[in-house]
Amino acid sequence: MEPKVDVPLFIEDPDRIPTEAVPENFVSYTLKHQEARPPITWSNWYKELHWLHVFIIFVPPTLGFIGAWSTPLRLKTAIWFVVYIHLTGFGLTAGYHRLWTHRAYKATKGLEYTLAILGAGVIEGSIAWWARGHRAHHRYTDTDHIMQWSRPDGDNRP
Ligand SMILES: [Zn+2]
Repeated sequence: MEPKVDVPLFIEDPDRIPTEAVPENFVSYTLKHQEARPPITWSNWYKELHWLHVFIIFVPPTLGFIGAWSTPLRLKTAIWFVVYIHLTGFGLTAGYHRLWTHRAYKATKGLEYTLAILGAGVIEGSIAWWARGHRAHHRYTDTDHIMQWSRPDGDNRP
């Protein structure tokens, strides 16, 4: 049995939740303790964006397109692109997803470090953050829980 922890009814700052206060079922906990986000409209959409993430999503690819457009493609670069995208993808799928999220197999420390370094190349956050989010995804995907969360009007049609 878990020790009783005094948990506040409303979490002011979700980034500062004491870890001992968060039960295993993080999604239910969050649904119960946080106010619903307002519907996104034309007048408030910019307030709902995480601007650091917007920067990360748009600026590096834009710089990549500019570089690709302005620089002649060399065979070595093309080969490295294919190798790199597959290696980092392997870090995500075999490492972040199968190893750390689903514990689908055991790995040696050497393989863990290799997959962690390769997985970092896809720039999808830390292993712990990714695994937590993906476990929540598997737990509530296609259930009323997640549909009501994403549809404040209660319309659960897909
Ligand atoms: Zn999965």
